[in-house]
Amino acid sequence: MPHTPSPINKPNTILCRYCEIALKGANRSMFERALVENILRSLGGRVQVEPVRVRGRLWLHSKQGTFSNKELRILKQRLAKVYGLASFSPGISVAPEMEEIERAALELAAAPLMSLLKEHDSPSFRIRTRRADKQFPLKSKDVEIRLASAISEQLDPRQQLRVNLENADFTLGCEIRRDKAFLFLDSFSAPGGLPAGSNASCLALLSGGIDSPVACAMLMKRGCRVDFITFHSHPYTPPRSVGKVRDVAKTLNSLQPPGKLFICNLAEIQKLIRDTCSPRYRTILYRRFMFRIAEAIAKRNGNQALATGEAVGQVASQTIANLAVINAATDVLVLRPLTGLDKEEIIKIAKTIDTFDISIEQVPDSCTVFAPKSPATTSKLKKIEAEEAKLDLESLLTKTIENTWNSAEKPRTAFRDDTRRKHYENNHR
Ligand code: ATP
Ligand code: MG
Repeated sequence: MPHTPSPINKPNTILCRYCEIALKGANRSMFERALVENILRSLGGRVQVEPVRVRGRLWLHSKQGTFSNKELRILKQRLAKVYGLASFSPGISVAPEMEEIERAALELAAAPLMSLLKEHDSPSFRIRTRRADKQFPLKSKDVEIRLASAISEQLDPRQQLRVNLENADFTLGCEIRRDKAFLFLDSFSAPGGLPAGSNASCLALLSGGIDSPVACAMLMKRGCRVDFITFHSHPYTPPRSVGKVRDVAKTLNSLQPPGKLFICNLAEIQKLIRDTCSPRYRTILYRRFMFRIAEAIAKRNGNQALATGEAVGQVASQTIANLAVINAATDVLVLRPLTGLDKEEIIKIAKTIDTFDISIEQVPDSCTVFAPKSPATTSKLKKIEAEEAKLDLESLLTKTIENTWNSAEKPRTAFRDDTRRKHYENNHR
């Protein structure tokens, strides 16, 4: 019997899977709510979806009935970056009844199978069923047999299709739940982890380099919401030093409930250090003051930890000895998610979160302006404290902290798409 198309020949639902949230006990619904909020924010109203939470899964039903190709493109692009999501599949959801399931399977399989049959002499296929609703009258195997026969009879008049359960050219997925049955062809991977904003917030020291944005993204993936603090040295650094960090913060804010950006002018403190202390220890001293300022802002802003893009051994200020001395400037927990990564691994992540292109723009950084020629690779806390004792900057520090607190910028987000990346690349060759 020839197959007659029905109105549901386009995806009407996205099935979202998550793994780590599923392990959560009593807090689970809080994590799920954060995930839904993040998904809706990432879609920015460009795709109208109705989210429905079911055990261990999330449905995103189209509010318009079905998703257009443009909407599917946006969904694939945005959902692939939502922390907490493990994978997702666009497909057709129907009432959990066998006739409906069969009809949807034929609708979904028709076009791709047709082109497969044109390209191959005897392509292989398989049906994969997951029966979450154990009350459903047919067992998974029976559902698979029934769908496979319907597909062979109706879509394969020349009997070319072979079943191959291990390695098929074509796989049709079927998931049966109490409220809906769902048929799909593809699964796309998402970053996993926990939904950004489901854990406590931290304040990240965000520079114009490649590393610190990656550190922020890694913490967002562990559920933190991240606020940012950046240090510049105006008038010794150009306005673009801050502009660049602003662009990075906007891009990072597309991955989380947006965080604030605090902007601190460190120039006066740096000049005092340059004029008073041993040049070898300058970078360590700058960093200790960065930490002190960041700690004061974090406490006032309600952030429970600081975060940096430091990695053990990367540069002189990041030897274990120097990290320990820098760390001693603060009592707050300092998270360093890049500790064990090498630069190539960091760059790979920077590219996936769209900050790499911004970070590689060459702009003088606060720390490089007054950087010593040969920084110390080891320092002793006593020595550094003696250097600091030479400084009289209590009131300068208080003023700097106050100015930084008042510099907070309203969170903004940016969704970098290919058009914007091309524009950037054309202008920065
Ligand atoms: P790069 O990719 O060049 O290593 P970076 O920002 O990591 O960039 P580092 O000198 O390695 O530069 O700095 C270590 C960490 O110190 C940064 O990851 C960041 O957390 C913090 N930091 C350094 N400079 C600044 C700054 N100007 N403003 C805010 N944080 C800074
Ligand atoms: Mg670095």
